[in-house]
Amino acid sequence: MKSSKPADAIIDNLLSLQADSLALVAVYDEDDMLRYANGSFRVAYHLAPGEELSWGDIMRRNYHAGVGTVLKTTDFEEWLRSTQSRRGKTAFRSFETDLNDGRWLWMTETVQSNGWMLCIASDITPLRADDRWLRQDRDLALRASQTDELTGIANRRFIMARLEALVSKPAPDGVDIGCIAVLDIDYFKSINDRYGHQFGDVVLLDFARHGHSFVRRLDCFGRIGGEEFMFILPDTNLENGIAILERVFAKIRTSRPLPAYPEFSYTCSAGMTALKPGDSAQEAFARADKGLYRAKLEGRDRIVAN
Ligand code: GH3
Ligand code: MG
Ligand code: MG
Repeated sequence: MKSSKPADAIIDNLLSLQADSLALVAVYDEDDMLRYANGSFRVAYHLAPGEELSWGDIMRRNYHAGVGTVLKTTDFEEWLRSTQSRRGKTAFRSFETDLNDGRWLWMTETVQSNGWMLCIASDITPLRADDRWLRQDRDLALRASQTDELTGIANRRFIMARLEALVSKPAPDGVDIGCIAVLDIDYFKSINDRYGHQFGDVVLLDFARHGHSFVRRLDCFGRIGGEEFMFILPDTNLENGIAILERVFAKIRTSRPLPAYPEFSYTCSAGMTALKPGDSAQEAFARADKGLYRAKLEGRDRIVAN
């Protein structure tokens, strides 16, 4: 006999099938908090039943315990920042990944426009093992082509592609598509001249770290040139975008990144614009850049919306 509540029966069965599956299943929310994981996922990533951590905290704990994902890095926080710069910003992604217990997984990540992410992985240890390193090398090359070498965050290529994707997505009337900001460190040439290029690099890294700490998973933050950076804040209106940027600016003003010069501080300027229906990536970028130009003219250390 057919169930009187077919939708409930499907959901009940789906949940109990997932709970028993050997495939690893997990769901993260828009803040990258783990909101659901089945038993196979919890075993692989050493999570207690019911434990809810952020993805970053899961990776950090596993890295220091030598369990979970194999991470070939000596600087976990740098690895995390770099990976978070690219994680969960496209609708679908799949890749091979290996675990410290010797297993290889085929991981898929599906992201909704509200930021929730479904991860499903299956054990592929016995499959196509011969050319696995070749495929990993290809993935590493892809990662390198999307990453800024000095700061580890997204590079111009990656962030411009995200902007293209955002402006070409159909936006219902009255919904905020989002806003973007172009930021540039003030008087950076004189920082280099006075303290040396190496200290200039330390300042760039400091800026990248602080900027990155303000982005949600669907946001993007990348280095687009020498001392120029860009934020993409989807689903955010100009007012909220400016409020976020003000917090970034406040953080930068109080930062003292050169231990050898404890009095050294620096500032930045930004141009910001809301994305409009029909905008091209170039048009939106040009508007934000014009705002940046005015921010410099008007004295620096400020945000000009345009
Ligand atoms: P403004 O306040 O108008 O932005 O002045 P500015 O001195 O910051 O601007 P300008 O464009 O004249 O100088 C940018 C400098 O950034 C010049 C270049 O030598 C330096 N630069 C570019 N890339 C790097 C880098 O990777 N490392 C370091 N240390 N310096 C860099
Ligand atoms: Mg510049
Ligand atoms: Mg500058």
